Amino acid sequence: MKQQEEQFSSGKLLPVMEEFISLQGEGIKTGTAAYFLRVGGCDVGCYWCDVKESWDASLHPLVQTEDVISRIKESGMQTVLITGGEPLLYPMDYLCQQLKDINVNRFLETSGSEKLSGEWEWICLSPKKNAPPFPEIYSKANELKVIITSPSDLAWAESEAKKVNPNCEILLQPEWSKRNEITPILVSYIIENNQWKLSLQAHKYINIP
Ligand code: SF4
Repeated sequence: MKQQEEQFSSGKLLPVMEEFISLQGEGIKTGTAAYFLRVGGCDVGCYWCDVKESWDASLHPLVQTEDVISRIKESGMQTVLITGGEPLLYPMDYLCQQLKDINVNRFLETSGSEKLSGEWEWICLSPKKNAPPFPEIYSKANELKVIITSPSDLAWAESEAKKVNPNCEILLQPEWSKRNEITPILVSYIIENNQWKLSLQAHKYINIP
C-alpha cells in the first residue's frame, strides 16, 4: 500500500479512463493526429461537460505510467494529448520527462484549476468560472480557449484574455448544446474583435472521438 502511495504521489501511477488515437478536434491544434490519454478525476463540475464519466477518479483503474509510455512508443505517434478530467490533479513531471526522453510532443488540456506540473510543448488553458485557474498558468499557456454558453460570457472571456501572455492564442468556442445560437454571435464578435479566433468541436461534426 505504501509503495502504491509513493508511486501515485510521484506520478508513476495514474487513473486512466481511456487511451486512443484520433485527431485533435478543437482549438488551435485541430486536425493534429495524437495519442490521447484521458485521466480520471475532475471536481470542477461544468454542467455541459461531455465527459462526466471522468469526474470520479475512483472509477478508473490506476495504471503504471511506464506501461502507458510503452503503448505510446509502440503507437509511433509524435504527439500525446493529455486530457481529462483534470490532468493537473496528478503530478505530470514523470510522464512528461519520460515522453520527452523519447521525443514525443506533450500537449496538455487543462482548466488550470490545479497547480501546473510537467514540461509541455503546448498548454491549452480552458478556464472555468466556478474554479478559476491558478494564476501562474496564464504566463505559460500557449492557447486560451474560452467556452461560451451565453453572450454574457464574452466579458469574462475578455478579462481572462487580459491575463495571458502576449504570445498566447485566444479562442472562443460555443458550448456544443448551444452551438446553433452561439456560433453566429461568436462569428460577428470575432470579426469586430479580431484578436480572437473561433474554435469549433470538429470531432463532433465528423463523429470521431
Ligand atoms: S473542467 Fe473539463 S472535465 Fe472538468 S467538468 Fe469542466 S469540462 Fe468536464
